[in-house]
Order: sequence, then structure tokens, then C-alpha cells
Amino acid sequence: MVKGTVYLVGAGPGDPGLMTLRGKELLEAAEVVIYDYLANPEFLDFAPREAERIYVGKKGGEHTLSQEGINELLVKKGREHRVVRLKGGDPFVFGRGGEEAQVLKAAGIPFEVVPGVTAATAVPAYAGIPLSHREHTASIAFVTGHEREDGRESKIAWEKLAAGVGTLVFFMGVRNLEEICANLVAHGRAPDTPVAVVRWGTTPEQQTVTGTLKDIVERVRKAGLKPPAITVVGGVVNLREELNWFENRPLFGRTILVTRAREQASELKNTLAQKGARCIEFPTITIEPPPSWEPLDRAVAAVGSYDWLVFTSVNGVRFFVERLFHAGLDVRELKGVRLAAIGAKTAEALERLGLRVDIVPREYRAESLLEGLSEVGVANRRFLIPRALIARDILPETLRERNAHVDVVPAYQTLLPSEKNDAILESLQAGKVHCVTFTSSSTVSNFFRLFDSETIRSALRGVAVACIGPVTAETAEKHGVKTDIMPTRYTIAALVDAICDHFGRG
Ligand code: SAH
Repeated sequence: MVKGTVYLVGAGPGDPGLMTLRGKELLEAAEVVIYDYLANPEFLDFAPREAERIYVGKKGGEHTLSQEGINELLVKKGREHRVVRLKGGDPFVFGRGGEEAQVLKAAGIPFEVVPGVTAATAVPAYAGIPLSHREHTASIAFVTGHEREDGRESKIAWEKLAAGVGTLVFFMGVRNLEEICANLVAHGRAPDTPVAVVRWGTTPEQQTVTGTLKDIVERVRKAGLKPPAITVVGGVVNLREELNWFENRPLFGRTILVTRAREQASELKNTLAQKGARCIEFPTITIEPPPSWEPLDRAVAAVGSYDWLVFTSVNGVRFFVERLFHAGLDVRELKGVRLAAIGAKTAEALERLGLRVDIVPREYRAESLLEGLSEVGVANRRFLIPRALIARDILPETLRERNAHVDVVPAYQTLLPSEKNDAILESLQAGKVHCVTFTSSSTVSNFFRLFDSETIRSALRGVAVACIGPVTAETAEKHGVKTDIMPTRYTIAALVDAICDHFGRG
């Protein structure tokens, strides 16, 4: 019996904002994701961590799996699972989605098609080219620039296309550009008809070359433009001069390394991306489970015997609750246990679980919590503090000095990441990064801990260093790095404005 369903989902042309709500919803519930080369890999983050991810992409002519192999895989996985078949653009526009749907139909596997934003419309839009315009054209055609290679006659009616359609949009046409232009001119299109070729449209890598049917081949060759690209032919291409909004964003073409501490929100990255920057996110710290769960598990099992449960971070709350569930328990175990939280975010994490926090200190510091606790009395009370493996001892020590009984258990550990370091260093050394951002002293310290200090200092020469405020800049200075960009107000928005000013198109 068939238990699964296959969803043929269009991922859009690259900009993650151009995926449909339905597509995202299905990805979030996927058990298996089968994806192509063109789909932006960022989408895979929407899928549950445990979902199986299978890459079947093709780059140029290189297939990791033949279309027959992909079809077989879809049928095999589709029998058992909720499968998202993620395809670039729209699955039914030059994406072989039709063939895949036919195979599923024949195998009796239920399928659904979720249309996507096709590159045919989105890429010209991001290049400032409206496909239709009352003064230029009343018809549009989508054409493949890469026909079947089995030697059969062309299915493209060149004479009709050349003379009868206003705007022509070619997919996969870079390699055959010369032939396409020649065919159009031979069949009656004016040689001075404007043409634009747009590579990696809607992404920070977008690159556009314009010309006419006469000279575009030469111009594309000179620019070294490679696939994937969309080619637009027609008078509407001239509107780009006036409407080129995307490539004119202040940070378009800039690559910015966004260093982050812990699992911070991506506000900075999103704001920079909005200004056109290509962002590389670089967490300078990762949160991992502790070396052993045993101490936390023991404390969790006996949590009802404590008077106070003190959380010093959101991660502490997260891992504590995970282990509570893991033991088959839940927050009802906390009845009678009072809760203290350091930091508003920590308190919020508890409140989201339906727990009222008894004490949140005014300041984000252990000392401040101690003041609050002194008021209620700590002598002979039992405290449990689930927190990072390595943390300051002032809180437990002071409680013990006041005759409290304190158990400190490691709930997680913060580690220095090692995965991306080499790649980041290489990009810096190759001059591919234009700016590095730091939003706190600890990101600066952690960043410099990840590299050899001489090597990183020389790699940063010529890279603009942006710090959110003077304290952060001072820490950078201590590591021998001068700050080039610093806002006068210490907010993310002001930092982004300062970066735009620095790059001169604010
Ligand atoms: N189903 C897809 C098209 C797949 S065919 C869609 O609806 O968009 C692959 C071709 O699409 C590429 O060779 C290129 O011509 C075009 N393409 C896809 N994404 C693109 C992008 N971001 N920029 C330029 N061309 C793109």
C-alpha cells in the first residue's frame, strides 16, 4: 500500500524570499527532500533536522543521477514517505516536472504540484526588465535554448518567434547564444533588437550583460558570463536603464562576513541582505551537549527536591527541558520549586513553557540575582543551577558562603567551531570578502581565537572592519585590528547605515 505523497515544489529562482508559503509549509513537514542544483541550499534549513536530504542536481552536463534514476528514487521514497521534490523556479516550466508527475501517476503515487516563481519572470524583474509593457510589447514567449540532443529537428518555429512575438525569454541559452541570435536575425528580427543576459538572477551574484542581437555574443564572451542565465530579447530590455533597482542597491556586489555569538537572531544578516550584500554567516561559537548527560539527568530526576532552580541562559532552559522530556517527565515536576532567571530572554524562555519566574534580576548579572535572592533568604535552601560546562563561579560560591546547598550541573557546552574556518580564511586571503562585522567584544575575542593571530591580521588587511560600538572596537584594537566603520548609535540599523555610507552608495 502507498503511504506517502510526493510534492513537486518550485523553489523559485534563488532569492529565498521567493519561495511560496505552501512550499515552505511542505518543507517544514518533509520526511525526505530530493533537491536540484539550482534550488538555493538555504531552503534545506526549513526541513526538519531528521529529514533525509538527497542531492540529485546537475551542473552543466554533469548529472549526479540520471533522470531515470531520479524517477526511480521518487517512486521508491514516495511509496513510504512525505517527499518534497524541490526544483528550481517552477517545476512545470522547463524543469522536467511534467515527466516526474507522469512517472508518479503511473506508479499510483499521490502527488501535488506547488508552482514556483519561475526564473523567466523573476530574473528579468530583478534586472529591471518588465517582460511586458504597453509601449513595447503585447506578447511573451518562454523558449528553451537547449533542445533535445538526439538530432531530431528543432521544435522551435523560429520564423514565427522572430517575427510574431514581442518579448522572448530563453532558458539555458548561454552555450547556444550565437545560434539563437543568428536564427532570430535570419528569420526577420532586427539586428539592433536589445538583448540582456542575466546570470544567477535574484541572488547577490546576479550579473547582467546587455547588447543587441548583433553584438551580445561578443559582449557575453568578453564578460566571461557562464550558465545559468536567462536571455531576454525585445524592446523592454531598454527599460532596464531606468528600472535597474536590484543591482543598484547600496551593498550590491559586496561580500560581508557576519560574525555571530551563539545562536543569535539573524537581524544583521537580513538587514545587510536587504541592502544587496552577500552575507557569509560565521558563528564564532557553537552550542553542543555536555560531555555527559549524567549529572543533568540525575538532577532532573530529583528536581522536586530543590527549593530553587536557577537558569542563567536560554540554552540552559532548552537543554534542561529536553532532558526532562527525555526522562519521560514534564514541567509538572517543578511544582513547589521556585524559579530564577538571569536575563529577560531566559525568563521569556521559561514563560513560553507556561512557567512563572519568581525572580528576574534587574541587571543581567549574577551579582544582581544574589541581591534578589538575599531578600527571600538562601540559608539551608537547595539550589540547582543547570548551565554551561564552563562558567563563572561567583553565583554558586556566594550562595554557598551563605550556607545554601548548591548543585551546579553542566547542561551544555560552548565550543569554538572549526568547520568553516579554513574556507573563511581562504576567502579573506583571496580578497573575496569586503567587510567583517563584529557586534560584541566576545565575538571579536572568539573570532581571533579561531585563527593564528599573524595570519588573520594579514588576511584582514584591505578588509573593512565594522564594529557596533567603542567597546567592541577596543577589543579589536587589542587584537591589532583597526576599526574602519563604527556608527554613532550602537544599534544594528545604525551599523548597517554606517556600512552603506562606507561603501559610498548609502
Ligand atoms: N524550472 C525552472 C527552470 C529550469 S531550467 C524555472 O522555472 O525557472 C534551468 C535554467 O533556468 C537555467 O539554465 C537558466 O536558464 C534558468 N535559471 C534558473 N534560475 C536562474 C537564475 N537564478 N538566474 C538565471 N537563470 C536561471
